[in-house]
Amino acid sequence: MTWRNGLRFGHLYRRSLALPVRPMTPARWRSHQRMMLARRTCPLCRTTGEYCIPTSLGCCLDCADGLALAELEQLLTLARAAAA
Ligand SMILES: [Zn+2]
Repeated sequence: MTWRNGLRFGHLYRRSLALPVRPMTPARWRSHQRMMLARRTCPLCRTTGEYCIPTSLGCCLDCADGLALAELEQLLTLARAAAA
């Protein structure tokens, strides 16, 4: 708050709103990219697609295409056990 020529000037914005909430550092971008890469990598065929693996399927669309749902769940259970 400042006084100038008898007029009062105040800050028109809240300081907390003007500050960046989460600055993206290079390290933060790298961890973000790794996370996105993991979400695009199929656990069955290990290929990385241009899209995120649908969580309902748990694998890429190519793998899901050729398999019955029961087979798919069996393979995914094995893949998860191997990764753990
Ligand atoms: Zn796949």
